[in-house]
Amino acid sequence: MNCLPPYGPLPRRRSAAVTIGGVAVGGGAPIVVQSMTNTDTADVAATVAQVAALARAGSELVRITVNNAEAAAAVPRIRDQLERRGVTVPLVGDFHFNGHRLLTQQPACAEALAKLRINPGNVGRGSKRDEQFATMIEFACRLGKPVRIGVNWGSLDQELLARLMDENARRAQPQEASVVMREALVTSALDSAQQAEALGLAHDRILLSCKVSGVQDLIAVYRDLAGRCDYPLHLGLTEAGMGSKGIVASTAAMAVLLQEGIGDTIRVSLTPEPGGDRTREVIVAQEMLQTMGLRSFAPLVIACPGCGRTTSTVFQELADRIQGYLRAQMPEWRGRYPGVEEMHVAVMGCVVNGPGESKQANIGISLPGSGENPVAPVFVDGVKTVTLKGDNIAEEFQRIVDRYVRDRYGAATPVAAAAEQSSGVAG
Ligand code: SF4
Repeated sequence: MNCLPPYGPLPRRRSAAVTIGGVAVGGGAPIVVQSMTNTDTADVAATVAQVAALARAGSELVRITVNNAEAAAAVPRIRDQLERRGVTVPLVGDFHFNGHRLLTQQPACAEALAKLRINPGNVGRGSKRDEQFATMIEFACRLGKPVRIGVNWGSLDQELLARLMDENARRAQPQEASVVMREALVTSALDSAQQAEALGLAHDRILLSCKVSGVQDLIAVYRDLAGRCDYPLHLGLTEAGMGSKGIVASTAAMAVLLQEGIGDTIRVSLTPEPGGDRTREVIVAQEMLQTMGLRSFAPLVIACPGCGRTTSTVFQELADRIQGYLRAQMPEWRGRYPGVEEMHVAVMGCVVNGPGESKQANIGISLPGSGENPVAPVFVDGVKTVTLKGDNIAEEFQRIVDRYVRDRYGAATPVAAAAEQSSGVAG
């Protein structure tokens, strides 16, 4: 009997389909990548620029904070300026304690948004909580906007937590506090969703998230949540951190859930380095999905790690240059060359593993390692086609890649043919 787990991801969990400004989430739709700005929303120019950059990098939804009257007033202007630049990415408004007031005072803000995100732990305290939550849900109902009920570990509803802790303490065999905390997160999301439906919000206008900062907690919480509802789930490790730690922690947590078929939209919450590029969180999310074989976004560059045979930087520079070039072409290539996102390009440091790996890729190049002939054999669809040499290997290889993309992904599509004719690109 075969006791190995099945190869590949488990079937996606069945979830309701929600449409957010034309983007389908859940219901079997491809897993959606989203991101969030870190500009002051009231600064229209900066926010427009960052939303446009995130969208260009491939973010399919962009969340902006709506934290005060100035931010709420800026939202319609941001939407308007994005449209004028041809950026149609749906905007999601993040509301906290004053959301009910901002929406009431500035209804144009809600109209310009494709979705509202409400954190039930930050809606209001005591008797005001239900009233303020209801005001925001009524807005969503009236304007036909979906809502993400986004619970967060750091702002968990303290009244709910205290109630569950009391109930636990009265049990004959109380659970550990961490178990009760996780239960409080899931209960907060499910209760708030039920409350929203009771107020008239349609079942297929609700998404849920329960973000925590610990990898094992996130896995446990989402497994539980996934089994207790069919709302689409937004995955994300909150406060993931900076640099490699943030990337590793987010990937470690989300990959386990995605492999189990859990998750309809993801965000990688990276703390940017000072002056760092916000679009990195989009690229990391895409690469997570693509390397898991769940969705393709841009051609993949397969590069060996290098070793004592790669004593010059030529190999790293070429791998970096090709990776950056392929990604930069994607906004244009996506429409013009359907399927190009599935392409694999191998850039290898020497002839030890280079030709073998190159033959497996669509296009591969093996650069000369230390002591090897200064030539670089190129393989296209498994066949050696040319050997490059001299000072212009990078430029020549890039031209080979361009030609391959045109021939392989362009010829079959009338759109591409027309585009190439009008741009005068030779086949
Ligand atoms: S392919 Fe060559 S350069 Fe790259 S790691 Fe292997 S032996 Fe080293």
